[in-house]
Amino acid sequence: MTAILLDGDVLARRRFDELAARVVSLAKRGVVPRLATVLVGDNPASQSYIGRKHENCAELGMASDDIRLPGDIPEDALIARVEALNADPLIHGVLVQLPLPAHLDEGRVGEAVSPAKDVDGLHPMNLGRLLAGTPGLLPCTPAGIEDLLRAHDVPLAGRRVAIIGRGMLVGRPLAMLLSLPGTDAEVTLLHRRSSDLAEVTRQADVVVSAAGQPDLVTADMIRPGAAVVGVGITYVDGGMVSDIADDVAQIAGHVTPRHGSVGAMTRAHLLSNLVRIAEAG
Ligand code: NAD
Repeated sequence: MTAILLDGDVLARRRFDELAARVVSLAKRGVVPRLATVLVGDNPASQSYIGRKHENCAELGMASDDIRLPGDIPEDALIARVEALNADPLIHGVLVQLPLPAHLDEGRVGEAVSPAKDVDGLHPMNLGRLLAGTPGLLPCTPAGIEDLLRAHDVPLAGRRVAIIGRGMLVGRPLAMLLSLPGTDAEVTLLHRRSSDLAEVTRQADVVVSAAGQPDLVTADMIRPGAAVVGVGITYVDGGMVSDIADDVAQIAGHVTPRHGSVGAMTRAHLLSNLVRIAEAG
């Protein structure tokens, strides 16, 4: 058996086309969605992620500002810059690219972004609304993963979903999202201190790995026919390695490709949040 590919690059293209149509409608009202990104320092991976977000904005007819700040900027100066973007009525979405240099408190900087312009969906106010069951702007990677599974008709209601990794970007908000009433997955959140990952993943209908450990999930950990989503990426010798080993495709029913997929879905949902903010404005 060879698994069906959960191809997020193809699906994201469709989502971008749908967003482009909404951007045209907004333009008729004289509104151009505008994203401001803030990159502190010169992390090469962050530069590449930011670059793709701006490319997508341009393709969709949206405006964007690429703000680059020195790696040694004091925290108060960074927060003042974010607050100025919050106050700018022409800017709909503000994103501070993570990770930040070690001297900056990511929690404090993240909280400085206005919850109403939080395109990442990671402000504690938006995460709190998700937890409360009244979601506002959704965290983009979890929203992209749910969309990827639904678009491929992978059932979630009453199904066992094992999520590896309890990080705030992916694992924890994804557990909240998939267990919302109406989605109704039965979620188990696994992490570094879990006693036996395979014991849980072998029972799961869906396995999502957001650990950032090369080849962490192998075929012997997967129930035949299960859907497997690789989110974690590790940079090894200049290349990217997925959390999902190659042999998983031999046993899974659905699997993400070794590269891409979730990254494109993340950008599609980031820009979906931006369009939503502009429409509401
Ligand atoms: P994080 O470092 O905050 O969390 C990693 C989690 O993995 C932790 O909870 C840790 O306990 C768990 N973990 C690590 N090793 C483990 C192991 N051997 N067994 C079980 N659990 C283990 O990371 P994050 O910010 O949540 O991101 C997770 C991964 O997803 C990273 O590799 C990141 O690069 C990737 N990511 C990809 C996208 C994308 O668009 N493709 C978006 C966001 C994050």
